[in-house]
Amino acid sequence: MSAAAERPLLFLDIDGPLIPFGSPDPPPPLATADSGNPLLTRLDPTLGARLLALGCSLVWATTWMEEANEAVAPRLGLPRLPVLDWPEADEPGLRGLHWKTRPLVEWADGRPFVWVDDEIGPVDRQWVFAAHPGPALLHRVDPATGLQDSDFRTLTDWLAALGRPS
Ligand SMILES: [Mg+2]
Repeated sequence: MSAAAERPLLFLDIDGPLIPFGSPDPPPPLATADSGNPLLTRLDPTLGARLLALGCSLVWATTWMEEANEAVAPRLGLPRLPVLDWPEADEPGLRGLHWKTRPLVEWADGRPFVWVDDEIGPVDRQWVFAAHPGPALLHRVDPATGLQDSDFRTLTDWLAALGRPS
């Protein structure tokens, strides 16, 4: 197995963690070719380097889908990342279970993973606990503020503990 394959996965949401909802309204977007979505002005361009420094294999887990690579990754200095697929529409949903939970557990396939999202709830935690045999950190970010230093501390501490032989 390559070093990349052994790294923990990090499933990353955009709306909330990277684009906070609570920040003051941005200035009117400039009429440039790439300013189609004014939410993009809320991205903190320093977050990309901090996310890469965690040493995980990053995966987009967001309704932005492939647009995450087109519009968001370049602004953060992130490479093109794999994208978690939307599950089949006719799959029976468990009440309270996020649409991402089942597919990301399947993607992880037992590998350690971190999930960074503002919509993680108790049913997701129960599902992961029951269905995922490896370590997992479901880290809920406050969508009012987006990813903060304290969030990065939590992720770093968890990943460091993961790397220590028990
Ligand atoms: Mg979100």
